Amino acid sequence: MSAKKLLILPGDGIGQEVMVQVRRIIDWMGKKRGVAFDVSEGLIGGSAYDVHGTPLADETLADAMAADAVLLGAVGGPKWDDLPFEKKPERGLLKIRKEMGLFANLRPAVVFDALVEASTLKPEVVKGLDIMIVRELTGGLYFGQPRGIETLPDGQRKGVNTLTYTTSEIQRIGRAAFDLARKRRKKLTSVDKANVLECTVLWREEMIKLHKEEYSDVELEHLYVDNAAMQLVRNPRQFDVMVTENMFGDILSDCAAMLTGSLGMLPSASLGAADATGARKALYEPVHGSAPDIAGKDMANPLACILSFSMCLRYSFDMTAEADMIDNAVKTVLAGGLRTGDIMAAGKAKVSTTVMGEAIVRELDKMG
Ligand code: NAD
Repeated sequence: MSAKKLLILPGDGIGQEVMVQVRRIIDWMGKKRGVAFDVSEGLIGGSAYDVHGTPLADETLADAMAADAVLLGAVGGPKWDDLPFEKKPERGLLKIRKEMGLFANLRPAVVFDALVEASTLKPEVVKGLDIMIVRELTGGLYFGQPRGIETLPDGQRKGVNTLTYTTSEIQRIGRAAFDLARKRRKKLTSVDKANVLECTVLWREEMIKLHKEEYSDVELEHLYVDNAAMQLVRNPRQFDVMVTENMFGDILSDCAAMLTGSLGMLPSASLGAADATGARKALYEPVHGSAPDIAGKDMANPLACILSFSMCLRYSFDMTAEADMIDNAVKTVLAGGLRTGDIMAAGKAKVSTTVMGEAIVRELDKMG
């Protein structure tokens, strides 16, 4: 079997620290499971700007296009805050997602039993929570034209962004979400604002059509985004898969993140369309940012990035057994009482990024 090509882009701040722990697991997979990854590493975000004068160099993008999967840490930090808009670290992230055609962002929100107390919601509301938010990633308000800030004849300034979706854009994200729901608990909630925004009237119509024509075995419901936000904190377990446009998904997935207690626990996957062989371009990354407040202190929780690697094994490489091993190692280590600062609780042992990474590898060792 040819080695799986994995491009690693640690990025900035804690992105670099958590990725060190993922590298341990990749090495472990090679040594103990005989899984050979062809791993290369590149720059993105502020660290790429410092070297190349751009947050995503063309060569890095070419490497990403040639890889079977890309694993990314996080980008950004105060050092680069004053750069012009197009040079900002976050532009590198938007560009790589856009160029790779990663239109589906999968954000699981899972409450581990050991962390049920970490949520700000009552344990009986979140215990056993396992939902998947599917966010459209390459269209909508974040990319629509026209956009910009202009000066009007009367001297006022006007800011413009445009919410736009075509039927094919809605259908491809709809299919991705229905397919996922079909493999889970067969319930899809489509989130829109069809009472106010025409673009999302079209969204709802297309979801209904897809449901009728291709996915009648999956239950489909529609919620307005304001209600969806309320329901997420009122009774989140009513959901299985939620699908929504780019900006709504950005906000709702962060809201769902907090149901689980910490950004440091949340992985994500971004997938493109399948090619003729069934392979998809794919990028895996933790949901959190570069956390400048704790960067360089060996304090970051590496589990979101480690769980992102687990998603990579599951969705890009069909390595379900290895992905399950990682997920179980995380569960066991948490049940054993180890905690990084972000998920610390009374009576638990506070550990560093490094110690948490080592503990996961030790658990993997026990499983073989
Ligand atoms: P952030 O996610 O970096 O941090 C928010 C808070 O959560 C901070 O207090 C941080 O210490 C904590 N936190 C985040 N991840 C953690 C982890 N793994 N372990 C422990 N604590 C963790 O968000 P922010 O502060 O709004 O943004 C900081 C920088 O990151 C900005 O430059 C922003 O643009 C960038 N950012 C990047 C991404 C990305 O790369 N995908 C996402 C969000 C923000």
